[in-house]
Amino acid sequence: MLVESWLDSANAEGCPFPVNNLALGVFSVGEDLPCCGVAIGDMIFNCRSACQAGLLQPENCRLFDAPSWNAVMEAGPAIWRDLRLQLTELFVKGCKNQAEVREHLVPISDATLHMPFRVAEFTDFYAGRHHATNVGTMFRGAENALPPNWLHIPIGYNGRASSVVVSGAGVRRPWGQLKSPDHEKPAFLPSRRFDFELEMGAIVGTPSTGPVSVDEADSMIFGYVLLNDWSARDIQAWEYQPLGPFQAKATATSISPWIIMAEALEPFRVMTPEREFELLPHLKDTGPMLYDINLRVDLATSEGPVQTITQTNYREMYYSAAQQLAHHVSSGCPMRAGDLLGSGTISGPEKHQRGSMLELSWGGKEPIELLAGRKRTFLEDGDTVILTGEARGKDYIIGFGECAGQLLPALEEPYGKQD
Ligand code: MN
Repeated sequence: MLVESWLDSANAEGCPFPVNNLALGVFSVGEDLPCCGVAIGDMIFNCRSACQAGLLQPENCRLFDAPSWNAVMEAGPAIWRDLRLQLTELFVKGCKNQAEVREHLVPISDATLHMPFRVAEFTDFYAGRHHATNVGTMFRGAENALPPNWLHIPIGYNGRASSVVVSGAGVRRPWGQLKSPDHEKPAFLPSRRFDFELEMGAIVGTPSTGPVSVDEADSMIFGYVLLNDWSARDIQAWEYQPLGPFQAKATATSISPWIIMAEALEPFRVMTPEREFELLPHLKDTGPMLYDINLRVDLATSEGPVQTITQTNYREMYYSAAQQLAHHVSSGCPMRAGDLLGSGTISGPEKHQRGSMLELSWGGKEPIELLAGRKRTFLEDGDTVILTGEARGKDYIIGFGECAGQLLPALEEPYGKQD
């Protein structure tokens, strides 16, 4: 049920940020320094100034000293819950401090949004079955589409925290070593098959130093963001064997600017799909740990209107973030607050549910038809990819905001003239 607010915009139909959500971001207005804020209706609540004014518990104020939510993550799950309660009390209908709270609100439209947390480390998984089957079929043929380990462990690779950027940042088409099947030798060129990947990012809030159960892993997750794992398919095809992707995924990974706390998503829990093979005990499902979150990809090009090219749902994943995290630490790999885990590309079974251009255009063989006779196989310079997501309750929405990035042209000569 919608938790009604005294702030009308938070109760409006279709509002992504009702009291039920309490999305966490880092914002600035004009020349002011960035600081922690909470989205409510069409406004942002300045946690730092509100805490200094006594609207939040004074012992919480140190959590808002830095422009990131890492300190809150490190404070632990009891503080996460407590902070949500305090915020809910300030925004719920009937709150007596309305006038004081209002002094700490600024319109979202006036604000610049920054990275909401410091990414400690970044891991990306490959845990969507439809995506893995599609890509495997293209790269290795239908018989070898899913590698033999795929149905037993969530496959992943260690990415680069340094490459994670917030929505709105431009992404430059990379150069890289490619080898086209028609050429005998590899060449160093700008990628011609640059792509997006529609994913969710899970943020680890509670650190760990040894193996944890799936249930413990679930309770370690602080929240979720939308994530676009930009991918150069031609670089990937040449480099990926035997250790997986490297430069193909190193250019940039975009995330949405609002952290949606796991607690806001509680009502939307769903089970993972049926298992073909029973998972080993330490990875077994113990309850619903995926979420029913509608996901969409829009493409904005210079030649025509913005167009939706994919619609799918997070529930299409084969492994939950909790299972990925449990697998990640099974060897003893320590986790830190602010570790980011990409879900893997989320594709559905249907063609219009595919979460990458590679799949939508079937390796470039079936161009995506856009309005006004335009076509795309992979991204062109100037294209903007916009991911959006929302969990839909009976009379409210938990919105994720958007994760957008524009593809900028490759550098002209990355190493200067060479001839
Ligand atoms: Mn990926």
